[in-house]
Amino acid sequence: MELSKRQEQIIEIVKANGPITGENIAEKLNLTRATLRPDLAILTMAGFLEARPRVGYFYTGKTGSELLTEKIKKFKVQDFQQIPVVVREEVSVYDAISTMFLEDVGTLFVVNEKSCLTGVVSRKDLLRASIGQHDLNALDIHIIMTRMPNITVCRKDDLLLEAAKKLIEKQIDGLPVVKDTEDGLHVVGRITKTTITKVFVELATDSAL
Ligand code: ADP
Repeated sequence: MELSKRQEQIIEIVKANGPITGENIAEKLNLTRATLRPDLAILTMAGFLEARPRVGYFYTGKTGSELLTEKIKKFKVQDFQQIPVVVREEVSVYDAISTMFLEDVGTLFVVNEKSCLTGVVSRKDLLRASIGQHDLNALDIHIIMTRMPNITVCRKDDLLLEAAKKLIEKQIDGLPVVKDTEDGLHVVGRITKTTITKVFVELATDSAL
């Protein structure tokens, strides 16, 4: 996050004089306590300062990048997951290609009659099938998909960072977010490289994250 000049000044004062009360910080800046309140709230929430009741403000000693790393390490999959696009195993390659265009996604998750994950189909899987000598309407996707148990998945309580690492390590574009059921894994969301890119941009532009 970008600090205002006044927020920088507050940090310097607390660094040099902490523990120090809000009242005393205000005095040093020739401002009222009420004027400072929003800045102190922001600096405390962001983790630069720590407020102890009846004692005052301390400098935590954490740099902006340390605080950013701490924040990123707390992100959970469930806070960022997007809606998954799911198709049945009997869908033809032709229809899977249409679905990919219509839904504007790069990965389709394949499920059986119990809505449990059985495979994944990517853009390249469909391209590979299309350049073969096949009738794309007669070829079912379960023939060409990557299948269980070789599917890399994540769960809603996983750290987003762990999901991002899986995308890199496995060199894939997306992960299904799954829920364990008696019948198998239900697909409840997706995390893709685009999800991670969005988080990256939002962090840098200092939005509500
Ligand atoms: P593309 O093939 O369009 O570049 P990916 O890099 O995501 O897209 O896919 C590469 C290969 O990995 C494909 O064969 C695909 O079926 C498979 N794949 C994609 N996602 C997963 C996943 N979550 N788990 C296992 N395999 C996957």
